[in-house]
Amino acid sequence: EDSPEFGSPPKKQDTGEGHSLKVASHYNTLQECGLAERSRSRIVHLRNFNNWTKSILIGEILDKVRRERRDVAVLDLGCGKGGDLLKWRKGRISKLVCADIADVSVEQCRQRYDDMRRRSHPNERIFSAEFITADCSRELLSDKLSDAELKFDICSCQFVYHYSFESHSQADTMLRNACERLRPGGFFIGTTPDSYELVKRLEASDSNSFGNEVYRVTFRKKGEYPLFGCQYEFNLEGVVDVPEFLVYFPLLVEMAKKYNMRLVFKKTFREFFQDKIKDEQNRILLQRMQGLEQYPADGRGRLASDNPVEYHHAERI
Ligand code: SAM
Repeated sequence: EDSPEFGSPPKKQDTGEGHSLKVASHYNTLQECGLAERSRSRIVHLRNFNNWTKSILIGEILDKVRRERRDVAVLDLGCGKGGDLLKWRKGRISKLVCADIADVSVEQCRQRYDDMRRRSHPNERIFSAEFITADCSRELLSDKLSDAELKFDICSCQFVYHYSFESHSQADTMLRNACERLRPGGFFIGTTPDSYELVKRLEASDSNSFGNEVYRVTFRKKGEYPLFGCQYEFNLEGVVDVPEFLVYFPLLVEMAKKYNMRLVFKKTFREFFQDKIKDEQNRILLQRMQGLEQYPADGRGRLASDNPVEYHHAERI
């Protein structure tokens, strides 16, 4: 019987621009809807759930780093429109570098930051920030940073890494950007679709695609899963419809060793949810974010995550 096989050679090599322009223009043209409209959206639960996961992930790593350091510098790799700015503010970091391939998103991120600063209390010390537009799978951030000596305590790469797995060199450059400026003991945290889950669901489907009323994943082909360039389209209620690539996690772990990283932690969103929902503070946060009355402590709540995503962090040694 045909079994899913990772590691078949990619059908095509890196084609220069590859899909980067498509990804950038896709995110650039995504409209920033107001909160009221967004909250009407059917994907609101999924978004809130992802946000809750990121909040906990970022909060926990900041607690850890802060035990050693007072001033914390963070690289938000693939920052998008700045959806995590408030989390960094809450975490009272000192410096944030935001980088993304989509120039319109970077500009919106900058505006959000400027607004946040303008509206903040005069006594609040809000982190300084720098904004960089770059294809982080092809360009080196080191060449673009204003401070050539800057070292990061954390690199956060949320729902971004899979775009770089188009080719080995792109995935490697992305990793280099994530890790080379981490100080020893610094962390690389991230979330990325779970390739095992994606392939499992694909193999169980009788077509090239699977999903539910909220999302749909469409592969080119079943049964062949090259390590790089294994493309699929991800559609989320018409909100995201863009080429992505499978990230075979053990390969990412191996590749990261080149940058002195060792894996500390990896969990699927489901495992993460079931673990973290036991904590009352986390439960209250999720209830508030989801606008719901109650989440059962045993993790059997309305898990908005039929979403095959996993979460990981690694430490620079
Ligand atoms: N991290 C943000 C968040 O969690 O809200 C945004 C996530 S969004 C799903 C993916 C982001 O990755 C987009 O903003 C996109 O422009 C960015 N991206 C994709 N490929 C990239 C690349 N090669 N270099 C930098 N950013 C990239």
